[in-house]
Amino acid sequence: MAFSGVSLEMSSAVAMEATRRRQRLSSNGGASETTEEPAGQWGRAWEVDWFSLSAVILLLCTAPFLVFFFVMVCDQYQCSVSQPLVELYSGEATLRSIWDKAPSFTWTAAQIYTVWVSFQLVLYMCVPDVTHKFLPGYAGGVQDGARTPAGLINKYEINGLQSWLITHALWYANAQYFHWFSPTIIFDNWIPLLWCTNILGYAVSTFAFVKAYLFPTNAEDCKFTGNVFYNYMMGIEFNPRIGKWFDFKLFFNGRPGIVAWTLINLSYAAKQQELYGYVTNSMILVNVLQAIYVLDFFWNEAWYLKTIDICHDHFGWYLGWGDCVWLPFLYTLQGLYLVYNPVQLSTAHAAAVLLLGLVGYYVFRFTNHQKDLFRRTEGKCSVWGKKPTFIECAYRSGDGGLHHSKLMTSGFWGVARHLNYTGDLMGSLAYCAACGFGHIHPYFYIVYMTILLVHRCVRDEHRCSSKYGKDWKRYTDAVPYRLLPGIF
Ligand code: NDP
Repeated sequence: MAFSGVSLEMSSAVAMEATRRRQRLSSNGGASETTEEPAGQWGRAWEVDWFSLSAVILLLCTAPFLVFFFVMVCDQYQCSVSQPLVELYSGEATLRSIWDKAPSFTWTAAQIYTVWVSFQLVLYMCVPDVTHKFLPGYAGGVQDGARTPAGLINKYEINGLQSWLITHALWYANAQYFHWFSPTIIFDNWIPLLWCTNILGYAVSTFAFVKAYLFPTNAEDCKFTGNVFYNYMMGIEFNPRIGKWFDFKLFFNGRPGIVAWTLINLSYAAKQQELYGYVTNSMILVNVLQAIYVLDFFWNEAWYLKTIDICHDHFGWYLGWGDCVWLPFLYTLQGLYLVYNPVQLSTAHAAAVLLLGLVGYYVFRFTNHQKDLFRRTEGKCSVWGKKPTFIECAYRSGDGGLHHSKLMTSGFWGVARHLNYTGDLMGSLAYCAACGFGHIHPYFYIVYMTILLVHRCVRDEHRCSSKYGKDWKRYTDAVPYRLLPGIF
């Protein structure tokens, strides 16, 4: 998961295509296991064209303001997206007057955020996982990541579920017994916290950028495009680390943003209670559905090591800043909206949202699970009661090593090539629909997720095509649709 950048990804796709073309020229193309050379190396772009560069600069300049806009419209305009635009157009408001009305940086917010990030850091670095010892089926503790383009396999300490449980137990204990701080603390400091998260997001991205030049963790997995903006945004180092265990991607992707997600929602619910004396069923739905998604993420953190964020993307601004700022502020817009616009849904509406959310989650989880099971057992498993069918593939890593892999063509992966994204989109739509139809503000999330996942799908397929060559073509012939069978 992670921000993984709406269209931040767009820039890489075009450049990826350039890489693919270059690889086609240099590697005879296809990768059939028996008859041809495997496709060339894979990984993100080495070359940047003007389109990619323009997209990168545009996003670097606009994404922070977009986040500010969606939070500010709730603070000043009851979450109406059009009202500030109308006021700006009519001259009733100016950019300056809007900016001046927004709460600014406070030292209280800085203290809260410092304590928060430090606490997550301590849980990540100093509390080795014990939950895997007593939770049946949970894969925590030291786990292997996927093979990097240079051929390395990194080790990770998987303790995200434990961190989430400890953090939420403390939150609960505070709300019920200790009363050290108000459960609305996050909401009450929301815009000042935005400045703090930006400071960390930019600091981390800049540090990772400089580190890649001065002391990279693994120089063979670095990619320099020759363009400073592209390098800054899409990252140079693949798996930057400090010491043996502090992994930038795992820490910033998972915590502090995703652990915070459920706490932010709880803070919104507490604010509703404080303001109106009750919590709406829509707020409960958003809290429950998103908590399922977050808990799923931590339960499957070891699996997450094999997803695109960790095993294909480099660590730059779009992961560093995206995880610190974009994710906590824009993934939680529904709860924020419901604080300002408490919506009580009819039973039928609430039931429909719940059903959509749960079915979406089912498709998302079981599609991911099938691939994980298939890959872990190398195809020696049962999918939908049968032995899975697959296509054998071969590819080369950067060190020249020849490797083999399999692409499943049965189960959910035989219906479409990315049903996990379809399920994710159904769940995302459910969060938005929980907010009723009064404003478009909470629907930003489904628009964003659709662009993100459709584009991610295209980008992933460019990468797979360059990795597997003709074997990928055989796979797409066998499973012709991406997200919706018969349509796309
Ligand atoms: P996938 O889990 O779909 O992984 C794609 C990779 O799986 C491919 O690159 C390929 O890797 C392998 N693969 C593709 N087809 C097959 C097949 N038929 N059989 C076996 N392996 C195959 O993508 P992501 O990592 O992007 O997504 C993981 C989950 O995270 C998704 O459910 C997605 O919805 C979610 N997500 C959520 C986000 C959020 O912000 N909420 C953001 C991004 C993702 P290989 O090179 O190993 O062959």
